[in-house]
Amino acid sequence: MNFHTKEHGDAPQYPGKPEAIEDRLFINGEFVPSKAGKKFDVYNPATEKVSASVYEADADDVDLAVQAAKAAFPAWSELSALERGHYLERWADALEKSLPEISYLDAISMGKPAYPDPISALAPMIPMIVRFFASKALDVTGESSLNTANFINISLRQPYGVCGAITPWNAPVMFLVYKTAAALITGNTMVLKSSEKAPLSSLTAARCAQEAGIPKGVFNVVSGLGRPCGEAIARHMEIRKISFTGSTATGRAIQKISAESNLKSVTLELGGKSPLIIWDDADLAKAVPAAAMSILMNTGQVCNASTRIYIHSAVADHFLDSLQATMKLMGASGDPLTNGTMRGPQADKAQFERVLSYLDEARESAEVTVTLGGNKEEGRTGYFIQPTILTNVPEDSRLVKEEIFGPVLIVNTFSDEEDVLRKANDTEYGLYSSIFTRDISRALRAAKRLEAGTVAINCTSPTLAFDMPFGGWKGSGEGREFSRYATDYWTELKSVYMAL
Ligand code: NAD
Repeated sequence: MNFHTKEHGDAPQYPGKPEAIEDRLFINGEFVPSKAGKKFDVYNPATEKVSASVYEADADDVDLAVQAAKAAFPAWSELSALERGHYLERWADALEKSLPEISYLDAISMGKPAYPDPISALAPMIPMIVRFFASKALDVTGESSLNTANFINISLRQPYGVCGAITPWNAPVMFLVYKTAAALITGNTMVLKSSEKAPLSSLTAARCAQEAGIPKGVFNVVSGLGRPCGEAIARHMEIRKISFTGSTATGRAIQKISAESNLKSVTLELGGKSPLIIWDDADLAKAVPAAAMSILMNTGQVCNASTRIYIHSAVADHFLDSLQATMKLMGASGDPLTNGTMRGPQADKAQFERVLSYLDEARESAEVTVTLGGNKEEGRTGYFIQPTILTNVPEDSRLVKEEIFGPVLIVNTFSDEEDVLRKANDTEYGLYSSIFTRDISRALRAAKRLEAGTVAINCTSPTLAFDMPFGGWKGSGEGREFSRYATDYWTELKSVYMAL
């Protein structure tokens, strides 16, 4: 393999450290420099130093990838579904072997702890997701109907052709495989743009696809910026479907660009401001660590993190004491490449400063109480934020309304069911909601009333299951990933009427 050798920054020795870091684009089954030869730097948020410099794709590179995907489409879509599934199985095997490398590359670009640990070990899900979609191969079917006299009618599910995907930095390869495996098993081909903050591991995933023998052009990965590269994908006239995970603002931009170009089908997985309601009858021994884990995982950079807690006033003091102690323990930060580190820094300087701007506002507010943390971790290199609990936060403040994307919990009290459900739903987001209570009727009333794509009872995020749909209501998105519904979003439906 022809890797380009790159500097790794100050990383200590880690078993997954590759001999060299791939820096090129993956187009038509090969690693190639961008046409213009321009590069951009990727920074290690724990050291604030450059980890790598990678080729930057522009609209010309996107077009090259689209043409490769277009050429590959007829043969790929004509394979039997089981043959496509077989390629995915082999891709999963290659990804599994490369997990230490993927973890290393994410650690040095967005700060996720590289060693498997109880609160941030997402990596093992990567091959599982690909195998899940491989197992869906024979389930992608239409229906038949005899309901019209003298007719047999059938519906067909067919691939779109060339699809686009744009992924965020917080779990780069997990989002890559969700989108790509679903697109490929249904017979589409793919051009994917990774996040400019963490593009390295997506190139390893591309190499794994190459090792798995996935035919040239079926899967293409371009590293690049939102503009021009992401926009070029959203605007491309030969891409008929796009799936995006990222911020609501960018999701809105992509939907607009898609509408302005060819009205491509758009799936959006966006942000959240997920409420967690804890009643006075809840098992706090379970609720407290679940709440802490939800906000500390990936140092709060998780779309479905429970960021707003509503605690019943009768147990609020006890809950807060216990939550503080747990967050201090679970929230200990460290070098992402050191074994045992549970929490790394924020992904980059921009995210760090964004979180700090919310914390500045909290400290300056006359109403808000900073119960834990509330600032950066002083006296150290890297973008580390203290695990933070804010209480008495006005419901109409930016802290309650906006996604902070850091280890920052808002904890407010309640005593009335109607009031807390109204507050929980008083948001533009609708990704995930949770409730802890021993009263089953109350839990089910909440499950029905909460405006979210997922409701968790006596547990909270990251609880998910592959066979359950995942996606957002309201401003949190459009479409679903996971589950038997996921492949629906990667196929067009056609009705065929057959007169007898
Ligand atoms: P972002 O929207 O800034 O960027 C996401 C991707 O979009 C990146 O690849 C970026 O280059 C690209 N992009 C930016 N501007 C673009 C444009 N004009 N046209 C096309 N592409 C463009 O988001 P982020 O900072 O990478 O990720 C954090 C956000 O993502 C948070 O809001 C988080 O909640 C959300 N998120 C959602 C989910 C989910 O499943 N719902 C999962 C992870 C992250």
